[in-house]
Amino acid sequence: MKTSSNFHFQVGEFKLIALSDGAFPVSKDFFFANTPQDMIEHIPDQFHAPLNFLLIDTGKQKILIDAGFGEEHLPTGGHLLRQLQQEGIKAEDIQTIVITHGHLDHIGGLSRNGNPVFSNAEHLITAEEWNYWSERPETMESRTLAPLKDHITFVQSGCHICPGISVNHTPGHTEGHLTVSIESQGTRLLAASDILNDPVTLSHPASYIAAELDPEKGMETRQSFLQQAYTQSAQIFACHYPFPGLGKVKKSEGQWTWMPLEN
Ligand SMILES: [Zn+2]
Repeated sequence: MKTSSNFHFQVGEFKLIALSDGAFPVSKDFFFANTPQDMIEHIPDQFHAPLNFLLIDTGKQKILIDAGFGEEHLPTGGHLLRQLQQEGIKAEDIQTIVITHGHLDHIGGLSRNGNPVFSNAEHLITAEEWNYWSERPETMESRTLAPLKDHITFVQSGCHICPGISVNHTPGHTEGHLTVSIESQGTRLLAASDILNDPVTLSHPASYIAAELDPEKGMETRQSFLQQAYTQSAQIFACHYPFPGLGKVKKSEGQWTWMPLEN
């Protein structure tokens, strides 16, 4: 079911909404590092990459996975709060936020003028990710995360947020990157965050977003994430895939292909 620009769906008994935060301008070299040119020759040198984020309503709590760019950082992004409002959800209604990693397109919306935007939320992050940015106070990411310090809870791989929803440490893109596993009534969704960049490169897992900290580790993580999704017949949610960023992967002759959810 589609209402406005948000995409509603269910994973078992959980209600989910894919929200578009907008799109951000990227260069082809940045978004498709280490990628064979013939795979991406149809893509312009500059383009806008989608920004998709996920709200989960378990019936008991509302969980947001990342919070987008934030209005002040990007004219073509930062729409997430408005999209939530369209659903009748206010920032104060969010109880839990998973910070998959500290890049600005995922955390820019978490604080404003030195205050947390989601004032009632517990913010979950790995210690690795928090420490990485804390040690780099000159970065916009660090300045954006700092006001959250009293609202942060460190999580480790395998931690459950509630029955059926857990986080996994998936390093490579950043040191403390998290993916989220959502399982209810035999249906599973894996939220990839930035493990994946674009469906056209799925058959070439050595391709990565140039912001990736450790591309070799990133490729290992990407392969095992895709294998897990395939083995579990899980849906995947990817932040920078075409909206709503939902689909499954297929494997043939050792190569992955993307099967977007038909809606
Ligand atoms: Zn990203």
